[in-house]
Amino acid sequence: MSDKIQAGLELIAVINTEHLTPQELRKILHYLITKDWNLIGKIIDAAIEDKLIERGEKTYRIIPEVSGFEFRKPRVRSTKERGVCMLCGKQISLCYYVDIMSRTYGPFGSTCIRKVRLME
Ligand SMILES: [Zn+2]
Repeated sequence: MSDKIQAGLELIAVINTEHLTPQELRKILHYLITKDWNLIGKIIDAAIEDKLIERGEKTYRIIPEVSGFEFRKPRVRSTKERGVCMLCGKQISLCYYVDIMSRTYGPFGSTCIRKVRLME
């Protein structure tokens, strides 16, 4: 399995919401994992196959608790430092980082970290 698909599955397993539209899920993967839409499709197919998500009528239901996938909560930390948000490209003075398994994502501003559904 490609490393990006693995990273995508780990990310989906810890997304902090129960329902996402296909567009929302694709956007989160696009922000964080890969700009390759074809690969994003493969990640979503793999997530459905692994029962991390279930295709509903209009949304995907995120179901990490019933999957065999090893589930670990992401660790969110923040540091006061100057940075550039990886989502919106704005200058930020409080940087949020998210650790999921062995990967770190960020920095994010406080609005954008909620946009990617990694923090309430
Ligand atoms: Zn931002």
